[in-house]
Amino acid sequence: MPEPTVNPIERKPFESAVTDVMQGASRWEVKVHDHGLVALVDVMPRLVANGQTADAAVVQAARVSYGQGTKKINEDRGLIRYLLRHRHTTPFEMIEFKFHVVMPIFIARQWIRHRTANVNEYSARYSVVPDRFYVPSADAVRKQSETNRQGGDAPVDAATAEDFLKYLDHCQTQYAEYERLLERGVSRELARIGLPVNVYTEWYWKCDLHNVLRFLSLRMDEHAQLEIRDYAYAMFALIQPIVPVTAEAFMDYDLGGEHLTRLEIEALRSKQPLASENKREQAEWETKKARMGL
Ligand SMILES: Cc1cc2nc3c(=O)[nH]c(=O)nc-3n(C[C@H](O)[C@H](O)[C@H](O)COP(=O)(O)OP(=O)(O)OC[C@H]3O[C@@H](n4cnc5c(N)ncnc54)[C@H](O)[C@@H]3O)c2cc1C
Repeated sequence: MPEPTVNPIERKPFESAVTDVMQGASRWEVKVHDHGLVALVDVMPRLVANGQTADAAVVQAARVSYGQGTKKINEDRGLIRYLLRHRHTTPFEMIEFKFHVVMPIFIARQWIRHRTANVNEYSARYSVVPDRFYVPSADAVRKQSETNRQGGDAPVDAATAEDFLKYLDHCQTQYAEYERLLERGVSRELARIGLPVNVYTEWYWKCDLHNVLRFLSLRMDEHAQLEIRDYAYAMFALIQPIVPVTAEAFMDYDLGGEHLTRLEIEALRSKQPLASENKREQAEWETKKARMGL
């Protein structure tokens, strides 16, 4: 039986001088709320040819599939914008970002639903939960929306905001009880279960650009809860200088765009009301029309 052979490694030098896309920093950090943050801790590709951004990795991958065909789309920016418009997504998977995120558990629960990332979270079985609770500012205490059962709306009046913030004061009492029970010998894995969901957790979250954009599309959207939107905007601010061309295309074609249903296109074409009895669908159409200035 012949043995498998491994040929010698050929190491090819970079063809030109290179730049670190994070400009030599080990971490770029954006603070969020009272104790939260999103920090970019690594990127692939980390090194790019001088004068380029990490967008170059998208172009490099796309040219494998399109080859000479890319001559028709003769510049990198045009190619990236074409790929994003036409949902040719795999070239965007060639870029990866690793983030360190500190956020309250109620945000982490929404975040973890994005299954295409690699996650490693702080263990509250292994370590004591730090005394950090999310408390919104008074003007971020929102009324229940009347049109969106899942959403908040305008701020509540000052007295109600004060009442709400008093309700959150109980976190401190609960944390004191948590510490007391740890001292009495209760295991960390059990003592933690009495802590509220505004307590902070943290994790490392690694995700490719395609799925980061998917996350941002859903979580920068106005339908997402305000608190996770703040994190999504922080994440966008961190990746924008690394992949400026992709970020611009994302704003143009995804977040800043508008998806129309067949019924909506028909209503536009015929200048008739939307052919649907569904009140929610009609309200959504009105919102879209207003946004488009119609
Ligand atoms: C405004 C808003 C409100 C929401 N409300 C609720 C709610 O009330 N209740 C609730 O439970 N969730 C809710 N969610 C979560 C939502 O349903 C999604 O789970 C979340 O947004 C992640 O989206 P995703 O599945 O596209 O992302 P990802 O998990 O990142 O998936 C990306 C893509 O990969 C595919 N994929 C990933 N894993 C698999 C797999 N194992 N098998 C097949 N395909 C896979 C997905 O289908 C998707 O196309 C809400 C989300 C938003 C933005």
